[in-house]
Amino acid sequence: MEKIMEKDLLIRDVETKNIMTKSSLPVGGYSVNPYVGCTHGCKYCYASFMKRFTGHTESWGTFLDIKHWPAIKNPRKYKGQRVVIGSVTDGYLPQEKEIRNTRRILEQLKNSGAEILICTKSDLVLRDIDLLKEMGKVTVSWSINTLDEKFQADMDQAVSISRRLEAMKQVYEAGIRTVCFISPVFPGITDFEKIFERVKDQCDLVWLENLNLRGGFKQEILDYIQKCYPHLVTLYDEIYRKGDRSYFRALENQAAQMSKKYDCPFVDNELPYDRAEPGHPVIVDYFYHEEVRGSENTGRRKK
Ligand code: SF4
Repeated sequence: MEKIMEKDLLIRDVETKNIMTKSSLPVGGYSVNPYVGCTHGCKYCYASFMKRFTGHTESWGTFLDIKHWPAIKNPRKYKGQRVVIGSVTDGYLPQEKEIRNTRRILEQLKNSGAEILICTKSDLVLRDIDLLKEMGKVTVSWSINTLDEKFQADMDQAVSISRRLEAMKQVYEAGIRTVCFISPVFPGITDFEKIFERVKDQCDLVWLENLNLRGGFKQEILDYIQKCYPHLVTLYDEIYRKGDRSYFRALENQAAQMSKKYDCPFVDNELPYDRAEPGHPVIVDYFYHEEVRGSENTGRRKK
């Protein structure tokens, strides 16, 4: 069944046999995506590649398939496994308010003993705090790569940075582990130290990840830099056309210094699940995430 429910957004229903997918991500044993497509439409979205496999011809951010699946069989099978919700879509898109697919997944996994990681750019997750509190090992991560609302609005159609920060605070205060995912770090634009100072008292983890321009969106981002940050064109050419890694190596050093300054652990692997001392989040280095091993779900960096 196909129907347009919102302006410029094609929404349709799709059946799927199994909502749980084995993941190759360094942080996830299983990946659960309650939708196909993501209406946040981030300009730098790595997930947009999956259009090739799903046959969508529409632009990224302009379609949304609502998945329907049979109830998860034997949820205890996932005990001790990390289950990532939202690796190639955001489980808390505005449409989730009505559709409630993510809530349905959480209800089905409630007594599974799985370790849940939710990745979002929304504050709709606040709706499900009651459920999350009953689920044991749960982590909610917000992607925040700027404190500048204009840059955020240029990059995605998700909620404002201030709403994400407020949601993180409320979830943290509810006793749930939180992450500030500073990603993607845009050279010359993302000031991760400023973001860190803003969130250090309301998160357990700070993940740092570089902007990776491998996808079809590379030219779009470079055009945007040319238009809005012309003084950064040379830097972006060095990094993304000539492959110079020194900028991000320097940022890793800066992050290491920052960890000393604020007395925070600085690691390249945040597993196993643990809570951080308040005010001293664990800083995880995912700069050059292409160097981390995913096959054993360790997240460790190659030596
Ligand atoms: S929120 Fe994530 S999946 Fe959605 S468009 Fe942005 S980067 Fe892609």
